[in-house]
Amino acid sequence: MKIFSSKDRSSRKGPAAWFTGNAWVDEIVAGAAPSRLRVFMLNFGPGTRTAWHTHPLGQTLHVLTGAGVVQIAGEPVREIHPGDTVIIEPDALHWHGATPENSLVHFAIQEADAQGIDVVWLEPVTDEEYAAR
Ligand code: MN
Repeated sequence: MKIFSSKDRSSRKGPAAWFTGNAWVDEIVAGAAPSRLRVFMLNFGPGTRTAWHTHPLGQTLHVLTGAGVVQIAGEPVREIHPGDTVIIEPDALHWHGATPENSLVHFAIQEADAQGIDVVWLEPVTDEEYAAR
């Protein structure tokens, strides 16, 4: 057993290529092989969202606080709230983030593929795409 103290964990600023706005990423666990588990806590300021992206083995989001939005390409933008769990299918093109008015904190739970890839980043979500809710 290992116990990791939150005091030993630093929040990392979400890179501008992957996030529009201010996002903070805490790595909760990166499972040691043979585990491929990856769990992050993401903290989005109001108006902040990810770029479009996919996950080779899918992703589970679980909302802790605030109010958020998520969209699968070609589907409507959906609001998500504390306690909601969102299942993203493998390779589904999507984005997620806070609403314009509220911050959002969610867990992101996913597995890496055999090459160690758990996310493939694509182009930013435009203001027009973000506002279409
Ligand atoms: Mn995702």
